[in-house]
Amino acid sequence: MIVPDRAGAEALDREDPLADLRGEFDLPDGVVYLDGNSLGPPVHGTGEALRALVHDQWGNNLITGWTTHGWMDLPSRVGDDIAEIIGAAPGEVVVTDSTSVNLFKALAAGLALRPGRPVILSEEGNFPTDLYVAQGLTELLAGRAALRVVSAPDLEAALGDGVAVVTLTHVDFRTGRMHDLDTLTGIAHAAGALVLWDLSHSAGAMPLALDEWGVDLAVGCGYKYLNGGPGAPAFLFAAAHLQAEARQPLSGWLGHAAPFAFEPVYRPAAGIGRFLCGTPPILSLAALARGVRLLGSVDMTEVRRKSVALGDLFIELVAGRCGEWGFELASPSRAEQRGSQVSFRHAEGYGIVQALIARGVIGDFRVPDLLRFGLAAPYVRYVDVWDAVEALRGVMEGREWDRPEHRRRKAVT
Ligand SMILES: *Cc1c(COP(=O)(O)O)cnc(C)c1O
Repeated sequence: MIVPDRAGAEALDREDPLADLRGEFDLPDGVVYLDGNSLGPPVHGTGEALRALVHDQWGNNLITGWTTHGWMDLPSRVGDDIAEIIGAAPGEVVVTDSTSVNLFKALAAGLALRPGRPVILSEEGNFPTDLYVAQGLTELLAGRAALRVVSAPDLEAALGDGVAVVTLTHVDFRTGRMHDLDTLTGIAHAAGALVLWDLSHSAGAMPLALDEWGVDLAVGCGYKYLNGGPGAPAFLFAAAHLQAEARQPLSGWLGHAAPFAFEPVYRPAAGIGRFLCGTPPILSLAALARGVRLLGSVDMTEVRRKSVALGDLFIELVAGRCGEWGFELASPSRAEQRGSQVSFRHAEGYGIVQALIARGVIGDFRVPDLLRFGLAAPYVRYVDVWDAVEALRGVMEGREWDRPEHRRRKAVT
């Protein structure tokens, strides 16, 4: 793809079959938003929908809203909508808790489904919360389970009789490198292990086929590509054939077979509902429902095709127009190995990202030297990529990264 000027990028936008989708989101004027891999924007009308829920449903119906408005079913209803986006069947996905908490439940369930196999296998580059949660679980199990962490190329060799669950994040949050989910799932199964995939950086960004690929367990984030809002609840997938045997240790009342029978002893609900713990956050779920419904109406193959094109363009423009400043591509140059983001390394990365934000181009920085740019195809335009790279050029030419206000570290990067 050769895009010589801004008009060339505008021409690509005119031919883009997803171009109209951008209008479905609330994005501030004058901002190029390349951080939807960390926090997606609101779907247009979410504020009004939440206001109506508070006033009309909660305000008018009070506690009867749980049944009159079907609030109690929201975790499974939104779960079914997510199932469609990730290639799962109705009844295989529930929305609840955070990704971290869901990892805990799913890991514990996976261990219990493979008795006699005490090992959880993961990789060094996994998202920290995934490793921390596994560490906490094995600590709790005091000697009855262990976490084995290896580098990605060593995963296959590290599989053995002892491994109960292989837990990996599909798309690396730093580099955007994507595991071959289908192949690794098959390799883990051949060794007798289950797989638990964290889809935080892929659900809503590309077509997935969890059932076709035989995935056992998965979790993912509601506030990134699913646009559910800050701290939106997360999702948990468990393959239908595993559900009857699956046990998870956060056995709260809403995962009980009959929560309102108030029985003294826990009995798990029949299906995916056993992965619930406590009362669902209805306002957050209602916001997430809108994000999910919008994405459910979009062809994920088109989303992926465009995000690949945006990534290729970004890489090409940085190489062509910012070559003299030594940005090192940290993401795979081959699109089939890359998720929906592009990352570069630069020693002044922190200041550069701050200076870009001051120019209205929002990406983010990850220690020690990574500049990350998320390319959420439903609302990022080709011209945004052009403008972002021109802003980067401006920041470097003017040494804007070196200003004291851009060097000062903030709490959330
Ligand atoms: C964002 C992200 C999470 C977030 O976990 P929370 O519990 O929702 O804070 C987990 N895993 C991965 C891979 C992520 O990218």
